[in-house]
Formats: sequence, structure tokens, C-alpha cells
Amino acid sequence: MAEAHANMWCSAGVHPDEQVDDHEPTVEELLAMAAHPKVVAIGETGLDYFRLQEPLDWQRERFRIHIRAAKACQKPLVIHTRNSHEDTLRLMREEGAAEAGGVMHCFTETQAVAEAAMEMNFYISFSGIVTFKSANDLKEVARHIPLNRMLIETDSPYLAPMPYRGKMNQPGYVKHVAEHIAELRGITVEEVAESTTENFFKLFRHAKADVTADVNGDAKANVNTQ
Ligand SMILES: [Zn+2]
Repeated sequence: MAEAHANMWCSAGVHPDEQVDDHEPTVEELLAMAAHPKVVAIGETGLDYFRLQEPLDWQRERFRIHIRAAKACQKPLVIHTRNSHEDTLRLMREEGAAEAGGVMHCFTETQAVAEAAMEMNFYISFSGIVTFKSANDLKEVARHIPLNRMLIETDSPYLAPMPYRGKMNQPGYVKHVAEHIAELRGITVEEVAESTTENFFKLFRHAKADVTADVNGDAKANVNTQ
């Protein structure tokens, strides 16, 4: 898909939930994939202690390998963390993830975790979860993150924002995330759109902003975020 459309890019990595029996990715293998011009990031990677139980040494080791690959190819990390923020931040520090930078995707943690990540050159990305009525703590975080560190995403097909909660998600619904954040912060949706688009191209610097037509001749690309 990334090769077929000028306004699409991709990342290379093995998700922390993916259980690989025979072969773990090596730094060299990740680098070989990351060499493709359409690969703009390494990930998703990270830790997830929600779906899987200890012993998870293999998951931590896999995360370390992804961080090393990101540093080696100078492409940013897309980090997933669930029920594991202490270890996630610890491994990021130990492996020097700040050198690669990246995004804490589908962020659901506290302001303190966001600040620790931002200190390591990471952006904070909000998904449809921030629109849920019950997500009061997360709404507070979305109010306080500096606009120049913020991204928005869908994480589709999961986590559709209100008013589509529970339905299949799609990238176009990212506008509902933008609208909700604008409302939370008392700013216009255009400001959210401009900042997050600018942040996207700053972070994923291998993605080229001057896309005007994809290979199928579609009109001007309308790039939101990941
Ligand atoms: Zn994820």
C-alpha cells in the first residue's frame, strides 16, 4: 500500500504482542527493512503487560533490539505501552531512545509519563480514546501537552472515536479526535490540524510533505497523521 500511494508511508517492526516461536527479528533484519524509502519509522514496538503474562524477557529484549535499530538507521520509534510504563521508560532510557526520538502512540498514560517521554524527544499521540466520556484523566493530559509535541491518530480498525465508539474505525475518523481536542483546549480545529500535521512531518522526516498526487492520479493528498 505504501508503494502504491504517494501519501502513504509505513513502519517496520514486530508488535510486542506478536508471539514469534522460531525467530526474533535481529537489528540487521530491521535495518534491511528500514532501508526501504517508504519506511519512515521503526515500530510498533514497546511493551504490553496487559495481554501477556510474565516471563516476558523476550518482549523486553525485542524492544531493546527495535530501539537499537531505530538509532542505527536514524528513524523514529513508534512506541506502544500498556500496563508497563515503568519498564517502557526504563528501557527507553537504558537504550538511549532519545537519540532516535519517536511517538508514544495511542497514549493512555499520565501527565508524568508524557513528560518523561517528551524529555526523551518523544511526541504524544492521542487516539479515539480521548473522546470517550470516561477518559477524564486522559482529557486532562490532552489539555496540557504542548501543541508542538502532540499527534493524533485513529489506531484503526480499533478504538473508533465518539460518535462511532464500538464500530469499526477508519483513518478519516481522526477528524473527530482533532475536534474533541480543539474543544478541550478552547482552540479551533484548524489549529489542531495544522500543528499535528506539522509535527507529523517534523517527526517522520522521511515522509515527504510535497505530495500532490499519488500513482493512481488522485488529487492533492490530504495527510492527517499516521
Ligand atoms: Zn499499539
